[in-house]
Amino acid sequence: MSAERLTIALQKGGRLGEQSLELVAAAGLRITKGANELLYRVENYPIDLLRVRDDDIPTFVADGVADIGIVGRNVLEEHPFDGPAPEVVMALGFGRCDLKIALPAGSDYAGPKSLEGQRIATSYPHLLGRYLRDYGIVAEIIEMRGAVEVAPRLKLAQAICDLVSTGATLEANGLQAVATVLRSEAVLIRAPRASPHAPLIESIIQRFKGVTASRGAKYVMMNAPRSALPQISRILPGAGAPTVTPLAGEGDRVAVHAVCQESVFWETLEELKRAGASAILVLPIEKMM
Ligand code: ATP
Ligand code: ZN
Repeated sequence: MSAERLTIALQKGGRLGEQSLELVAAAGLRITKGANELLYRVENYPIDLLRVRDDDIPTFVADGVADIGIVGRNVLEEHPFDGPAPEVVMALGFGRCDLKIALPAGSDYAGPKSLEGQRIATSYPHLLGRYLRDYGIVAEIIEMRGAVEVAPRLKLAQAICDLVSTGATLEANGLQAVATVLRSEAVLIRAPRASPHAPLIESIIQRFKGVTASRGAKYVMMNAPRSALPQISRILPGAGAPTVTPLAGEGDRVAVHAVCQESVFWETLEELKRAGASAILVLPIEKMM
């Protein structure tokens, strides 16, 4: 990688590839997809996107091949490092999944102790080993590269430890989740050493923070009686102090504007209406800083 250009490592394809590119684009980086599938260039900043297998991202960032990277927390925490590990800068709010222990549906399970002496198949031997040690359980870890969910049917193991998002795969294989080993999502990581690109990295981090904060956030406007303000503040999810402006010629009624950090549902609007609000508008927020 050239010293003049900052390098961001992203998953090429897979479950995180597309959303990683979307985040980069939402942060205002214009991507040119050249003939080179491994390296995309950013036109408006001295930045390259290194597109690789997710398993390589922690090493590339730790070794300085890339300055920052986007990878699942599960991959990062499973990964061994000889030297200093990359630093997690922020969670990115996508690629959510849990590393869970699952047993054939209908199995008896009375807490982690039930796993004592069992064989558990997983692609995450390090994270599973740490979990078992934390609970003082001795079990046999069967390491598999993929298709972990078939292990119980093949009698390779009695239990599995695998990533779950919707649970559909578990269900299709007659398995039920009984414990969570790790909650995961995509995270931004940075090299554990000083980089000549530090100012540019800082500005990218600020933009990523702005993009993630504005995701799901809404700008809510309404008219309401001043006396209903405390109730309205309670109803609006994650809205700090709202802006309140008197309405000309409307006596006690005021205009209320607020940024809500969480989703605003129809139920929320109905509650606001019951509290006396009218002319309620919910608008998307594009950017926030
Ligand atoms: P690669 O070819 O890059 O090695 P992969 O097959 O190892 O890809 P993917 O299946 O694309 O990896 O998953 C990438 C990441 O997506 C996972 O490490 C995890 O953080 C996240 N993820 C989100 N939901 C799920 C899920 N249901 N199953 C697996 N991974 C998930
Ligand atoms: Zn992988």
